[in-house]
Amino acid sequence: MPVPPTPWAEELRKLFPNARLVEPLAQHTTFHIGGPADVFIAVEDEERLGALLRFAKERALPSFLIGRGSNLLVRDGGIRGVVLRLEGEFERIEFLEGARVRAGAAAPLPRLVMACAERGLAGAEPLAGVPGTVGGGLVMNAGTREGEIGALTRRVRIFDPERLEGRWLEAPELLFSYRRSNLAGSMILVGELVLKAGEKRDILRRVQEQQQRRLRTQPIHTFNVGSVFKNPPGHFAAKLIEEAGLKGLRQGGAKVSELHANFIENDKGASAADVLALIEAVRGKVRERSGVALELEVKVVGEA
Ligand SMILES: Cc1cc2nc3c(=O)[nH]c(=O)nc-3n(C[C@H](O)[C@H](O)[C@H](O)COP(=O)(O)OP(=O)(O)OC[C@H]3O[C@@H](n4cnc5c(N)ncnc54)[C@H](O)[C@@H]3O)c2cc1C
Repeated sequence: MPVPPTPWAEELRKLFPNARLVEPLAQHTTFHIGGPADVFIAVEDEERLGALLRFAKERALPSFLIGRGSNLLVRDGGIRGVVLRLEGEFERIEFLEGARVRAGAAAPLPRLVMACAERGLAGAEPLAGVPGTVGGGLVMNAGTREGEIGALTRRVRIFDPERLEGRWLEAPELLFSYRRSNLAGSMILVGELVLKAGEKRDILRRVQEQQQRRLRTQPIHTFNVGSVFKNPPGHFAAKLIEEAGLKGLRQGGAKVSELHANFIENDKGASAADVLALIEAVRGKVRERSGVALELEVKVVGEA
């Protein structure tokens, strides 16, 4: 439901002329689903981020950071307060000595993977084809069975909400596990990864193999958010869903993919409510058939 502009939103637009009011978040997620943000702002450097978060803090406004929206289901009522996206200096990728790479949180993972490959730096290939940003990837510890971003991460710069400035977290302070990290709730600004010197030709071949495997096994040309459920210990979510006979199951405009059962496609203007109903149907039927409770990998945010 569209939200009328509030006095604070108009005030914010004086500070950030690029602020958009009542911005449909469907335009900012790979699902192409999601109600409006009260205010949506793209922020290009740490100073502007500080000014924005100070403004929000003084008015007790909630703020939410969105990456590429490739692991997000935004509910149909949208998100109250300020939704922000990093751009500008946060998209920078810099190579440092010692096979290190410093990547802004808004840098797309596919660009990072290719930049490392072109430099003959190995290690990031398992991330090939993950469509998110470095920030979203770090929060989610994105990766595949071949490897995850956390294992490459040496330090992370986050925005300190108390001091309203950036600070570095070093490796011992960082915890990564399967699709999880202790960075959830922080605003990540930069990630510093350590790679290994390798043969450019071999690295590019491995990147290409990953991409071709995805083309064969995932409906990457549809509107989706990748795997909806985490693999439960000792199981594969896709196999459990397929064995329960749920490929092609529909709810409104949402459908369990015929190609990869752990993907849900928005193929006919699905609402978030459609997707959530389909998620519950899948969970119920898998639990009934195999006794396994599926946990969500996709993050569900916003108001119903
Ligand atoms: C076709 C397809 C294939 C995929 N394959 C994989 C895969 O193989 N492996 C895998 O792990 N994932 C996969 N994904 C899921 C997704 O790409 C990853 O989870 C990715 O890391 C999400 O990044 P994002 O920038 O899109 O984050 P978003 O979806 O925008 O956000 C996800 C969460 O991260 C938070 N966030 C985003 N940026 C920041 C930041 N700078 N600081 C703090 N928090 C932040 C958001 O607030 C939100 O809570 C796939 C998705 C698609 C569509």
